[in-house]
Amino acid sequence: MGKIVVAGGGMIGLAAAMMLADDGHEVTVVEQDAAPTPTDLDRAPEWARRGVAQFGLAHWLVARGSSIMARHLPEATALLAESGGYRFNLVKYLLGLQPGVEVLPEDDRFDILTGRRSAMEWAMARTAEEHPGIRVLRGEAIVGLLEGPAVAGGIPHVAGLRLRSGAELTGDLTIDATGRRSATPQWLEAIGATPPHERSEDSGFAYYGRYFKSSDGSMPPLMAPVLSPLGTFSVLTLPGDNGTWSITLYALSEDKELRRFRDPDVHRRVIEACPLHAHWLEAEPITEMASMVGVVDRHRRFVVDGAPCATGILSVGDASSCTNPSLGRGITLGLMHAEALRAMVADHFDDPIALAMAFDHTTEHDLRPWHDATTSIDRRRVEEMRALLAGDSWLPDPGAQVAGALVGAASSDPVAARAFGEVLGCLELPSTIFARPGLQQHLAELAKVNPPRPVPGPDREELLALVG
Ligand SMILES: Cc1cc2nc3c(=O)[nH]c(=O)nc-3n(C[C@H](O)[C@H](O)[C@H](O)COP(=O)(O)OP(=O)(O)OC[C@H]3O[C@@H](n4cnc5c(N)ncnc54)[C@H](O)[C@@H]3O)c2cc1C
Repeated sequence: MGKIVVAGGGMIGLAAAMMLADDGHEVTVVEQDAAPTPTDLDRAPEWARRGVAQFGLAHWLVARGSSIMARHLPEATALLAESGGYRFNLVKYLLGLQPGVEVLPEDDRFDILTGRRSAMEWAMARTAEEHPGIRVLRGEAIVGLLEGPAVAGGIPHVAGLRLRSGAELTGDLTIDATGRRSATPQWLEAIGATPPHERSEDSGFAYYGRYFKSSDGSMPPLMAPVLSPLGTFSVLTLPGDNGTWSITLYALSEDKELRRFRDPDVHRRVIEACPLHAHWLEAEPITEMASMVGVVDRHRRFVVDGAPCATGILSVGDASSCTNPSLGRGITLGLMHAEALRAMVADHFDDPIALAMAFDHTTEHDLRPWHDATTSIDRRRVEEMRALLAGDSWLPDPGAQVAGALVGAASSDPVAARAFGEVLGCLELPSTIFARPGLQQHLAELAKVNPPRPVPGPDREELLALVG
């Protein structure tokens, strides 16, 4: 067992720290934001987390993320649950709409425990700060990496972190969990390391949303998919903790007219014009409008030409790979990565080269397909929005048609409901699900009898009138 330093005290840095401390390591987390963790959840939304630009925006946790939390971070799960976290099972809900269909014990795998971002991170931070073997330093910005003696010819070895205060923190292993704005590539370059291989593109979306709270702690009934495409925009309705939920509209960032979604009156008018979503407005807004553009999809690979860029450091969560948030998966993918990190560190802690190579292997084989599947769904949606914006007709490709048939049938067919739950919950990759014998044919037959219907809402002309 050894000393591990974690750069970044966001969701994934804290989760990784708790997992590694449970395996006997002595872990120090360094977080630039100075604000202490609020004492109770009610104050979490005002927590000054400037290091996380999306802190106030819509978040939820899907099934795989919830189950990783329950397994590896039971105290954080219990704290979120007892503080008003929202338990839901979309598949059981969909099966309940289907007369005569039985819910099975294995449908528990679709359970989620979720909350606002502030609530989930609050539960994680409160737990981490009381967790044996962890020290969390807040208000300490990292400015670079400490270089130690190389363990393999020509490959720089990271021996810890340099802080703005001038302090140095040494560790046998450094975990980079500094999020989507991670400066690790520049820090690596500064110690003479080969830069990581990076693929990055602007996802093309702009998000506009706010939170609401019911007076009695209830949640509005789900009458449309949580993520509903409506021509040139989409509506995202996500449940939060303690009777709260977010309503987000998103559109192409280049769609200038729809930038008016950030006006709260326009936001309200557009949602009122969507008959299956309007009832989500029947509550008090509890936040101002928040918006975000320029959300980048990025994947970094820290093994280049068969060798690690550096030893002694591993990047996890958004610092390694981030996608735009339309599918609400970032934390779940980060938790999957942290779980893989725990296993790799357990197997290879004493061999920095083997550790770097094994972590790269699991990242590329187990995480990257999720990154690629997520970005490909988003790219299709961007293409669709662009075609509709240009006034062109849009015919989804065969893959999108099957996916559309799956969503369309989820509320009327148990096979479709469960397959949909697996995709949404990050339990199985879409490519694995659609390769199941007979599934595509089954969906095609269902679509013939009951063609998927578009979610009702304003057409482009009505939309432009609504945005004024
Ligand atoms: C608009 C939006 C909505 C989203 N919605 C969802 C959703 O519904 N569900 C979901 O699962 N995911 C969602 N995501 C993705 C999710 O927010 C991220 O995947 C998640 O925050 C990643 O956690 P992380 O710990 O890797 O990084 P972060 O949460 O970004 O944490 C990084 C931490 O590192 C700290 N840090 C950075 N640099 C330094 C430094 N130099 N010194 C010290 N500390 C530093 C930061 O202050 C921060 O605390 C959304 C993202 C966006 C942009």
